Order: sequence, then C-alpha cells, then structure tokens
Amino acid sequence: MVSRVIPVDPFDLVIFGGTGDLAQRKILPALFRRYCAGQWHDGVRILAAARSEHDSDAFRAIVARSLAEYAPEHAGQDDLRSGFLQSLDYVQLDAGADPGWDVLARKLTEDRIRAFYFSVGPSLFGPLAERIRQHGLATPQTRIVVEKPFGHDLDSARALNATLAAYFDENQIYRIDHYLGKETVQNLMAVRFGNMLFEPLWNSQYVDHIQITVAETVGVDGREEYYERAGAMRDMVQNHLMQLLCLIAMEPPAKFDSDAVRDEKLKVIRALDPVQPHHIVRGQYTGGPDGPGYREVVGNPRSTTESYVALRAHVSNWRWAGTPFYLRTGKRLVARSSVINVIFKDAPHSIFGAEAGRHANTLSIRLQPNEGITLKVTIKEPGQGGMRLIDVPLDMSFAEALGPENHQAPDAYDRLVMDVIRGNQTLFMRGDEVEAAWAWTDPIIAGWQARGDVPKPYDSGSTGPGDAELLMKRDGRQWQGIKP
Ligand code: NAP
Repeated sequence: MVSRVIPVDPFDLVIFGGTGDLAQRKILPALFRRYCAGQWHDGVRILAAARSEHDSDAFRAIVARSLAEYAPEHAGQDDLRSGFLQSLDYVQLDAGADPGWDVLARKLTEDRIRAFYFSVGPSLFGPLAERIRQHGLATPQTRIVVEKPFGHDLDSARALNATLAAYFDENQIYRIDHYLGKETVQNLMAVRFGNMLFEPLWNSQYVDHIQITVAETVGVDGREEYYERAGAMRDMVQNHLMQLLCLIAMEPPAKFDSDAVRDEKLKVIRALDPVQPHHIVRGQYTGGPDGPGYREVVGNPRSTTESYVALRAHVSNWRWAGTPFYLRTGKRLVARSSVINVIFKDAPHSIFGAEAGRHANTLSIRLQPNEGITLKVTIKEPGQGGMRLIDVPLDMSFAEALGPENHQAPDAYDRLVMDVIRGNQTLFMRGDEVEAAWAWTDPIIAGWQARGDVPKPYDSGSTGPGDAELLMKRDGRQWQGIKP
C-alpha cells in the first residue's frame, strides 16, 4: 500500500534564513523528498535569502551537502538531485534593509502560489512582513510561514500577532508547530474520529487519566542563550505538549477543516484550570559521567531555569471533569520518547476475584521513535493452572501494518511545507490559540518568579526529579516508563 501523491500547483517559495540550520536540516531536505516523490514537477522556484554573500552555484553546493546528510535515502539518485538543485536560487538581502529586495522581486513569478518562510529569529518577523508589503511582493496567493518561538509570553505573542496582522490576513499566516505534522498525531485524530470503538469511551466516565510525555536525551548544548531565557515551560509545554493535549481532549469537530479543528482546540485551552503550585514540579539536570550539568552548560551557576517540567492539568468541561492530564517533558532523560498514554479505568467489578489484580486498558500513542499505536488488553494467561490474567499489547505498528514502503513515517516538515503550498491551515496554530496557550502558561511562570522557585536537581540519564514521582503517587497513580 503506497500513499498517493497528488501534485501541488506550481509555486515560488522564498526561505528567509535559507542558509541556516533549520532550512538546511529540515526544510530543504523535506522539499527534496517531496520532489523525489513527484509532488511537483519542474518549474517550481525555491529562493533562499540571507545576508551572506553566495552566488547561486555556491548555494546549490551547500544544499547538495545538506541533502547528502539529511536526505540520505535518495543518495545516488543524481538526476533527481540535479533537477531539484536547478530549482534553487539565492538572493543576498538583509531583512532589515532595502538592498536586495528588488532582485528578489524580479526573480518571483506572477500569478502563482507564493510562500515566504521566515526561518529566522522572531525579531525579524515584523521587518520581513513589512518589507514584503512595501516592495509589493504580497499577492492574494501569498502566505507566510513563521517558526516557533511565537512570543515569549502573552504580551509579546499579542504584539507579534498584531504586527503580522498589519500586513497579512490570518488565513495567510502559517504558525508551525512541527509536532502537529507528525504522522501519528494526525493518526490520533483518525483513530479517535474514524472509529466507533474509542469515542464512546473517550471521557471521564471511562478514562482514569492521561499522560503526555516528551522526553529527550539531548541537553541544551548549542541553544544555551535561548534556552536560559525560555526553559522547558516555554520551549515545550506552551506549544508542543499543549497541542497534543488539545488533540486528545477536543470535541469532534464538525468536519476536518482548519477552522473547525482549531475552534475545538481553542475551547480546550480555554477550559484549562489554572495549575496549582503543588501540582507542578520543575527540575534541572546535574552533571555526570555523560556530560556537564545544565548550569555548567549555560555558564550560570545560579540559573533557575527549568530543563524539566511535570504537571497535573484539568480540562474543566463536561467530558473531562475529574480526569487529570499529567504532562511531563525534560532534557537529558533516560530515553528519547514522545508518547501519549490514555489509561482507562478498571472494570467496575472483577469476576475473577482480588487475586486477579488490577488490569487497566492503556492506549499508547507513540510519536517518536517508532511511531505507532498500542492498545494494552487483558487476556487469560495461556495454559493450565486456573484463571490468571495478563496484559498483552495489541500493536498497531505502522511499519508492519502498512508494509515496508511506508516503514519510514514522513518527517513532519514534509507534510507541513506541502500543506502551506496547498493552503491547508489545519495543522498550523491560529493566533488566538497561541495567545490562549500563553494566557494559561504566564501565571505559572509568574508564580515561580514571585516565589523565587528553584528547580529540583535530577541526574542526567534519569526519569527526572523524584518529586515528579510523588506528584503521581499522591494521586495513587504512577508514570508509565520512559522507553526508547
Ligand atoms: P540559524 O542557523 O542561526 O540561521 C539563521 C538564518 O537567518 C541564517 O541563514 C542567517 O544567514 C539568516 N539571517 C540572520 N539574520 C538575518 C537578517 N537580518 N536578514 C536576512 N537573513 C538573516 O537559525 P535556525 O536554527 O535556522 O533557526 C531559524 C528560526 O527557526 C529561529 O526562529 C529558530 O528559533 C527557529 N527554529 C529552529 C529550529 C532548529 O531546529 N534549528 C527548530 C525550531 C524552530 P546570514 O547570517 O547569512 O544572514
């Protein structure tokens, strides 16, 4: 079973910051893979823009090296590679100055989809939006793509939204949260809303609690300055974990279109109760044999920035009253694993007696690595010796179910960049969603600042601070293991 590729209309894509890490590691390899898949034919133009001086050939040589490293699956397909490289061009310009913009204007094609990808720091979003307008580059078919971080708090997110709104309509603004482009995240919606099986049970009557874990083994190396200002709450919880929570908790939208889905997600964020201080744990990793601790890495021996957060959230609505959502994320943890666990309640009465133990069904939605969905069900242990119960996984491994040609789940950017060209905003965050997420996050951070809160130390390579275990234990629950 091979997924169908529906070619998109011809387009011009301008990547501001086209020589940067994100463009070289993610955006351009994603475009190359889609080109190899036949998503578009020749004639498309991909223009990189940045301040450094390169001619087009030098830029193509840079991209060729990145493709070899980040799209190795197409190594040896020289015709495809040179076809793709021919669609690339480079323009030298500064987002904050006028020279170079007229060159860019001349390279753009009239009457076709035109996308501007802002793969630069957020301080340049405003200047870029303004110059695109000033130089007459915005057409009705124009869209802009902005990367995270989208603001640092509610005020800055509002200001950024207002700046972009001065030049573009909301339906032209694509705010990327790459978690939403992951295959399993979209599958979560398919599983929830495409099957009769789960939705009737998807509420506080049958679901005991939900755990959302995004664990990383990497530290903050290379992003010290940004991370020291952000911390795990701003870097991960406000966007990625919040988006996953929304998709789990939202009501079925009337249809799978961008505003219907985003309206429902917004309602979830607005229904979140403020988090009580005793329902949140912050942590900071310490050094060990595998490397230095957080404070050493950022060069601030008194840093109070958290590299770990665990919290208990409540969605105050009819469906979820009484069902806690436990969220945790951290760096330098024992394994890299992003997973959502929906833990159902025990059967109300065990006909097998107390000795049969407790056996709650768990639906695990794994985002990375090994994307897939597992349902843990209870069965009789095979063999003689009476009725002993065991839990076994029903594994919906996509690699096995869909065949080797779909073994590799596509990178989130493959999907998201093509959605920009198709004009589909469903998997992008709307301005009001981002603001609502900050409105929930800001008081938590303000509370830490007011109390002079210091994160709890945790060992690199562990599952996080012990207090996070206590957060669960107090509720008579425990975290699922963090497994690679
Ligand atoms: P980066 O490696 O520092 O690259 C920045 C790019 O912007 C370079 O091409 C740089 O080239 C260009 N640039 C800088 N100032 C400019 C100006 N005034 N005018 C025109 N171009 C300018 O940064 P990055 O890691 O690619 O990140 C880009 C954005 O994506 C940031 O907002 C970041 O937070 C976000 N992001 C990155 C990642 C990631 O994995 N890297 C993940 C999520 C979000 P010149 O110096 O030649 O101008």
